[in-house]
Amino acid sequence: MAEDCLFCKIAAKQIPAKFVREGERVVAFEDLNPVAPHHVLVIPREHLVSTLSIGPAQRAIAGELIEVAADIARERGFADNGYRLVFNTNRDAGMTVHHIHLHLLGGRRFGWPPG
Ligand code: AMP
Ligand code: ZN
Repeated sequence: MAEDCLFCKIAAKQIPAKFVREGERVVAFEDLNPVAPHHVLVIPREHLVSTLSIGPAQRAIAGELIEVAADIARERGFADNGYRLVFNTNRDAGMTVHHIHLHLLGGRRFGWPPG
């Protein structure tokens, strides 16, 4: 657990969140400021900073984040209509929390290119 990491604290239940999944390696919770009818953050319990932290040893956990997100989309019934998965990385993408998190966005249409 990284010192002063908001998402490590959420995974450890030191800060409350509305959990959607509490797995062995991965947890998912509702985004505090949703930008879509469904906005869930999927994170590894392990502190990884960003997509730049993904190497051979992290491939499995990266895949698990995507798998869990797809599972939640199916469970909530918007998988067939579609959804968007986003990993923001560093400043230009607007990353604010430096613990890797996959945004699962669903329940409306999304524009392309993104803003
Ligand atoms: P990003 O901009 O990709 O770093 O996304 C960080 C996300 O974390 C934003 O969508 C925030 O709304 C969300 N967020 C920040 N604090 C919390 C919190 N305490 N609980 C749930 N979501 C949070
Ligand atoms: Zn962390």
